[in-house]
Amino acid sequence: MVYKQSLKNLLPEEIEAWVLSKGYPAYRGRQLAEWLYGKKVEGPQAMYTLPQSLRDLIQQEGNLFLTQLVNDIPTSFADSQKFLFKLTDGEAIESVYLPSKNRRTVCVSSQVGCALKCSFCQTARMGFHRNLSAGEIVDQVLQISRWIPENITNVVFMGMGEPFHNFESVAQAAKIMNHPKGLHISARHITVSTAGLVPGIYAFAELPYPFKLAVSLNAIRDDLRDVLMPINKQYPLTDLLKAVKFYTQKTHRRVTFEYVLLKDVTMTIKDADILVSRLKDLNCKVNLIPYNMTHAPYQMPDEEEILAFADYLQSRASFPVTIRWSGGRDKQAACGQLYTETKREEYA
Ligand code: SAH
Repeated sequence: MVYKQSLKNLLPEEIEAWVLSKGYPAYRGRQLAEWLYGKKVEGPQAMYTLPQSLRDLIQQEGNLFLTQLVNDIPTSFADSQKFLFKLTDGEAIESVYLPSKNRRTVCVSSQVGCALKCSFCQTARMGFHRNLSAGEIVDQVLQISRWIPENITNVVFMGMGEPFHNFESVAQAAKIMNHPKGLHISARHITVSTAGLVPGIYAFAELPYPFKLAVSLNAIRDDLRDVLMPINKQYPLTDLLKAVKFYTQKTHRRVTFEYVLLKDVTMTIKDADILVSRLKDLNCKVNLIPYNMTHAPYQMPDEEEILAFADYLQSRASFPVTIRWSGGRDKQAACGQLYTETKREEYA
């Protein structure tokens, strides 16, 4: 593996155990967790309540500098803002800060690139480079929150990568974000989005945390979904919807389906009718995402078409329908537009 163990891969109690294992009392571990996740300091030498010997040990073994911000950041954050991070092995990832009226959301990446080949998504063009560690995921939020005066309220795993291809690190990162002595973000405000990896959905349903699930549906006919999202050949719609039903029944939580609007492709009357009938017994909502331009040969629908499709669907559906008006299109920071040029390494 390229990345070393980092203290930011650890829950506060695991940090405490690490500190104990080095011969220091447990309260030093609690102080260290507070410096890392509460005060969000950059490096160990700023942790002035810790003894110098422990600070030096953290410097040598703690591996705290996981992500390094490399793009210019404005001084005001009224709009969405993309953050480009370089990782210790030279790879790069993007994260997006999304402010809205009552929320301050960070959209995190879970992998460098992605193994799925969704035809409309820019990240797919990169191919898969590697998984991120839990610490590299958590550090995206820590780094961004240093720039934002108020607390981050929400995290969505909707950046680069397929979270359920990196299940363990994603689950650990979400736990650290949620932990009261971690980033202390409500579990209900942490959403993991999958392209439809069925085993991941079953595993996610078993986690003893009320994290939220989103599923990128994007098409409701197998013939079309096979083309747009080849993962559908492995996990076709019947299996996917069965897994989602299991999740909603087991957790009593509503699932969000994302549905990308590709002009003349996914937004026909026929597709709306099938959505209504196939989702009618599910505890769900449907979030329509108008297509954002990428390399792919699809067209963006205009506002009138988007509203007409949404109205038609809502007038017949038993579930709520919302529209995600993406900010950040001009900065290539909207859904499906994340892409980084990095060296691809061969991993032994
Ligand atoms: N791999 C996970 C996490 C990425 S989420 C998943 O698929 O859910 C990114 C979201 O952006 C997905 O819902 C995807 O369907 C959507 N998306 C991808 N490309 C897009 C584009 N060009 N325009 C609008 N939405 C897009």
